[in-house]
Amino acid sequence: MAECKKCKKDVAGGYNTPIGFFCCDCYDKGMKKKVSDYYLKQQPIVSVLGYQFPDVKKRTETPKTFTFVKVKLKDSKQESSDWNLLAKSEEEVKFHFENYIGPEIRKGVKDYIDVESGLKHATTAFSSAISQKIKFDQTNKSANTIATELENKTLLDRLDLIKQGKALLLSMGLQYSTVHEDLIVTDKIIKESFLYPSEDMPTEKDIIIKSWKGGQHYYSKIGKLDVVDSKGNVKWNTFKEAWEESLKYLKELQNN
Ligand SMILES: [Zn+2]
Repeated sequence: MAECKKCKKDVAGGYNTPIGFFCCDCYDKGMKKKVSDYYLKQQPIVSVLGYQFPDVKKRTETPKTFTFVKVKLKDSKQESSDWNLLAKSEEEVKFHFENYIGPEIRKGVKDYIDVESGLKHATTAFSSAISQKIKFDQTNKSANTIATELENKTLLDRLDLIKQGKALLLSMGLQYSTVHEDLIVTDKIIKESFLYPSEDMPTEKDIIIKSWKGGQHYYSKIGKLDVVDSKGNVKWNTFKEAWEESLKYLKELQNN
């Protein structure tokens, strides 16, 4: 049992949000809006944790082309790195964040919750980061707040470097580095679709359509990528619509 922050009732289930725990009643009657406002205040962040709040999700426009590079240190006998996205603009960083960091962070938060419930050991970098931060945090913030702060910091650090005029090498996961003069590019591909050259082209089998519990919309992913239709929508009213938009999106990917 937990106490609802608003009505103070002890309830078995509810919503654990960055601004407190609420019973379902209070959540539906006003608190959902407050939580949504909380996430909106995290601007200019595209909050992947605030994903379920429709107003929050502001899609970044898809860059026209993507440059992928392999690099190695000058004078080094080591092998070249895996493919990295070479990002020089905020747009590229945000787009990468939504599509590659977002899933890592959501997986990490779920992992953290499972670890806390004693179900398993941590298996993701992001859940370990949350645990570490909580261990040294003196302010009794909730895990959700810490996760949101970490998420924001993850993106802001990258955007800061871009603002300083640096170019970034973004891996498919959380790791990244800046381009510096001791690095040489050993391989380069420019693509119109946002898939790393080492990734397999997705097929219909990789389409996953989801609807949030109690939600009225359908969201779709193809592998890691969020499906976006030509009008910029990321959610649809019926499963059928979501499926059809996913097929169109897939075709675009395959043609690029
Ligand atoms: Zn309540």
